[in-house]
Amino acid sequence: MIIPYGKQEILQSDLDLVNEVLKSDFLTQGPMVPRFETAVANKCNVKYATAVNSATSALHIACLALGVSEGDIVWTTPITFVASANCARYCGATIDFVDIDPLTYNISVSRLEEKLIEAEKNGILPKVVVVVHLAGQPCEMEKIHELSKKYGFKIIEDASHAIGGKYKGQPIGNCKYSNITVFSFHPVKIITTGEGGMAVTNDPEFKARMDRLRSHGITRSVEEMTQAPDGPWYYQQLELGYNYRMTDIQAALGVSQLDRLEKYVERRHQIAKRYDELLSDKPVTVPWQHPDSYSGMHLYIIRLKLGEMQLGHRQVFEQFRSAGILVNLHYIPVYRHPYYQKMGFNPKDFPESEKYYSEAISIPMYPGLSESEIQEVVLRLITPIGHQTLF
Ligand SMILES: *Cc1c(COP(=O)(O)O)cnc(C)c1O
Repeated sequence: MIIPYGKQEILQSDLDLVNEVLKSDFLTQGPMVPRFETAVANKCNVKYATAVNSATSALHIACLALGVSEGDIVWTTPITFVASANCARYCGATIDFVDIDPLTYNISVSRLEEKLIEAEKNGILPKVVVVVHLAGQPCEMEKIHELSKKYGFKIIEDASHAIGGKYKGQPIGNCKYSNITVFSFHPVKIITTGEGGMAVTNDPEFKARMDRLRSHGITRSVEEMTQAPDGPWYYQQLELGYNYRMTDIQAALGVSQLDRLEKYVERRHQIAKRYDELLSDKPVTVPWQHPDSYSGMHLYIIRLKLGEMQLGHRQVFEQFRSAGILVNLHYIPVYRHPYYQKMGFNPKDFPESEKYYSEAISIPMYPGLSESEIQEVVLRLITPIGHQTLF
């Protein structure tokens, strides 16, 4: 039996809508893309949405819309997928990291404040901070927003894990405390378009800029042009953009999947509750939920209490994998990758991230996970193959 850590669900209704597009006149960016954008914006209670071919692309054009360029500084958390940092590097900016909170594993607000005070003294304040809602649990946005006003930085929420979640009862993605929020629709995420992403915002200028950047920097809007059109064929490239467009085929899958968003997040919470119960007397720390948070629950991350176990972190991980339970580790701290190591980061500057990296394991979490599979996962933690008992 193989149990992956995450898995999409494709239903007949998904196939039907995708089929409709395949038989229609538009394959790429036709009517389905704006339909998907409007549907996501409505769910998130936000004004504008720009669909693109990945969250990585969305993070890139979000940084560009916020004016990130060479000489600027961007901060993020080390416990994230590399894309949250790479977006700054695409723009030629310098990246730095803020250590994580020991309870939520999100960016630590107290460490952020300390680092801002220090950076202000040295005249090296960040232009943008990319916060990541790890596992779907929102960061402490209200406090981060206050800091952004005091120190003059802009905020991108990397909500790749968090669509369908809430912060203080409001949908993640409403951009109440940020400039732009980004979602991912990669198949392991909460809803999928195969590959895909979206950037949402309440600012019409950011929206217009991101729309342009997703399609070569080209505009067809006369108001944006530097001269009257030469003729009906006319368009202008105003800046250097990209081909980051989402297809209508992908958008159709997204529209169809989005109908099940609340159901998916609820099911993920049910699974988390079962894990919480079954693991309550085991030497692991289960995910702590901040009272302001209703997590998207993309991941269920346990931390091993290694002092109470006979096996080490790597051994527990290998035992799971050899039993066909495809656990994962989200994430290798970004500064540990050779590309970032060359920039001279010292792991000692991030003690909470280092400790996290030595203890964390993401166990399977997806709506299709059955009760017997949940029990199998827990059993493998308690009694790994070839061992009488683990503790
Ligand atoms: C998956 C993910 C991304 C990248 O998403 P893609 O759609 O695959 O580009 C970025 N940030 C985080 C936190 C992610 O989990």
